[in-house]
Amino acid sequence: MGHKLKVGELREMYLTDEEIWRIFTIILSNKSVKSSTYKYALIKALIENLYQINEDFELTYDQLAYSFTKIYWNLVVHHNLLNQNSGQTARVVSIIKEGQLKSGIPSEMVFDKLDEAIQIKLVGKVKSTMKINVFGALYGDTRGSFYAFDHKKETLRLNPSVHSFMLNYQRLLVNLTNYHMAAMVEQLNEVPSINYLLGKVESIAKRSSLKPFEKVLLTYFKAECFYCGKKLTDNKRETHVDHFIPWSFVQSDHIWNLVLACNTCNSSKSDKLPTRNYLDYIIDRNQVLNDVKENTSITILMNNYRSEKIIMLYDYSIKNGFDSVWIP
Ligand SMILES: [Zn+2]
Repeated sequence: MGHKLKVGELREMYLTDEEIWRIFTIILSNKSVKSSTYKYALIKALIENLYQINEDFELTYDQLAYSFTKIYWNLVVHHNLLNQNSGQTARVVSIIKEGQLKSGIPSEMVFDKLDEAIQIKLVGKVKSTMKINVFGALYGDTRGSFYAFDHKKETLRLNPSVHSFMLNYQRLLVNLTNYHMAAMVEQLNEVPSINYLLGKVESIAKRSSLKPFEKVLLTYFKAECFYCGKKLTDNKRETHVDHFIPWSFVQSDHIWNLVLACNTCNSSKSDKLPTRNYLDYIIDRNQVLNDVKENTSITILMNNYRSEKIIMLYDYSIKNGFDSVWIP
């Protein structure tokens, strides 16, 4: 069901948390129509883009296809998994394998290090497959209640109750999705153990390097630690790009959540939230980035940012258990 649809309207607007949990449990377990890793990758892509939605709760297919392609690239090429996969998943897997083979890319390569032209090409191909096999399928599995989609406009519109549910339980959902995805990948591959796989699956959304962001930040801000003000030297080991809200919660690398930090602050902060007064500092800092008009790549990076979002993210991370606060 759902696969052939080109448009899907939201069938239900108001869902209680209990109803949403019930649907999530069905999708995550094997009870949904086809056993495919697609649904997990789409949920991961949605989570990665939760804070990228526009005023109408919409995400573009391009945003989702980028995350989706990254996830599969890192799973298939970088971790060399899903080799024995069959059926539905084969299509995205073969797009990725063909792309790797054609450009002679070594398997150590992670997705975000790929040449931009190759990334765009792959994302485009994966997007076409998602239109056939992914958006409609999960729409069907959720009985049309999680999101609406439109192949012509290439947008997916999240149900606002589902969006707020996902924000509320983000950490749990990430863990649950990773667990079930690892369990399915384990069925499809000969691997030592599920713990081995969990580690891999947990990391597939992660970027290998934040270097490009460091460059951008150094262009617009002084080379000093965001937290303690210490001057940052050119020495490679001294300048770090830190996720203000920890990566393990936010699961993505938005520039508005990244700051320059010294070695000491970066390692002592680790996976904790900075104390709340830094929230004002980062909001001011982001205002500067928001006001950059001459550089379109920054405008794109800051797309859909509003100061309310980072405040929301801060409060939701506390709700999700990130309650040990760090003071420099
Ligand atoms: Zn510092």
